[in-house]
Amino acid sequence: MRETGSNRVLIVGAGVAGSTLAVALHARGVEIELVEIQPEWKPLGTGLMLMGPSLRALRGLDLIDDAVAGGAGLYHFAVGDEAGNPTSVTDLPRLAGDEYPACIELGRPAFHGILAKEMRRAGVPVRLGLTIDAIDENDNAVDVTFSDGESARYRAVVGADGAYSGVRRLIFPELGAPRPSGQALWRAMVDRPPELGSNFQEGTVYMLYGPHNKAMIIPTSPRQLYIALTENGAGHDRPDDAVLPELMRAHLADYRGFVAVLRDQITDPSQVIWRRLEVLLVKPAWHRGRTILIGDAAHTTTPNLASGAGMAIEDGVVLAEELSGEGPVEAAFERFMSRRYERCRMVVENSAQLSEWEQRPVPGADPIALTDESWRVLSQPI
Ligand SMILES: Cc1cc2nc3c(=O)[nH]c(=O)nc-3n(C[C@H](O)[C@H](O)[C@H](O)COP(=O)(O)OP(=O)(O)OC[C@H]3O[C@@H](n4cnc5c(N)ncnc54)[C@H](O)[C@@H]3O)c2cc1C
Repeated sequence: MRETGSNRVLIVGAGVAGSTLAVALHARGVEIELVEIQPEWKPLGTGLMLMGPSLRALRGLDLIDDAVAGGAGLYHFAVGDEAGNPTSVTDLPRLAGDEYPACIELGRPAFHGILAKEMRRAGVPVRLGLTIDAIDENDNAVDVTFSDGESARYRAVVGADGAYSGVRRLIFPELGAPRPSGQALWRAMVDRPPELGSNFQEGTVYMLYGPHNKAMIIPTSPRQLYIALTENGAGHDRPDDAVLPELMRAHLADYRGFVAVLRDQITDPSQVIWRRLEVLLVKPAWHRGRTILIGDAAHTTTPNLASGAGMAIEDGVVLAEELSGEGPVEAAFERFMSRRYERCRMVVENSAQLSEWEQRPVPGADPIALTDESWRVLSQPI
């Protein structure tokens, strides 16, 4: 067994949650090690919208300036119809301070690069192409066997390995996989034409309801925009690459105005990403012994509140605060749970409710009120 020192924490998964936790623990002087299953460390997906709570947490880690410099600042949230006519426009609160945007849209590779650069600067040991095969708890430590056969002893283990977490399977074998929400998300990055019409306002995220589905338009830079289309009644199988642009344009056929202009620019299969949406909420506790789950491993959400990565970032910040304090690991995990469960439950359940109303509308349902109320709760300090 490799000797790691009695205080070292092992983080499994170098995505949003694991990387944020690594940066936050290192800043507090805790020794860490990170393992990532991908042999080449790269993020999945294209764009990421980071709302006010995420920016506030990144400010606490001194990463906000890089994130804001790498993304497009957004200030307003407009809901509208298939012609792009807004029916309501909300000013989003600037939770990170008046000098920063209310939220940003940035590429996942860009955000990943910011976290990776910070870990390199701090000298965090990251081992790629590796996962864990077994966890053995004893009174004072946890023994881990890695997929390369090596074993080592840690003070605590954190499963930050996403929706299909292997650590979750090891500590909670009774839990199943995430459930499909019934929707799929189509995303395409398009160049911005010089003229988008007077309905289109700068610095605004648009959520537009057509007769059959929902489209979101999110500026990512002065030159590009991102179109996200939520398809109801999505099948399980990913369509062939070659037909992705044609199918995405067909799903957007009812839209007029600036969406129609943007739709016509979806032509190349490499522009389009298709992903089935899924939900999972692990009921308390998210820990067994000295091993805990954070991020999507504990709470996988549909993107209706654009807060999945935000919750993963906050998990990293809060767990670092609790684990770097005095006292037993289990007590730190319990304090973490009491600060995190209700907030993450609210994101998963309200997002799932919004997804459900999009698929099966109910008279009297008010998705905008539920969205506003959820974001109001998330604006409270963590
Ligand atoms: C289509 C879509 C759009 C979204 N848009 C937004 C958005 O705009 N804003 C937002 O806030 N959230 C958004 N989310 C949610 C967000 O992407 C997730 O909540 C976030 O990535 C969760 O971070 P994580 O670190 O927990 O998991 P991940 O980011 O999935 O990272 C997990 C990491 O663990 C690694 N790993 C997996 N298995 C193992 C293993 N066995 N051993 C070691 N390593 C392993 C993976 O390779 C990966 O690097 C969206 C989600 C979807 C599906």
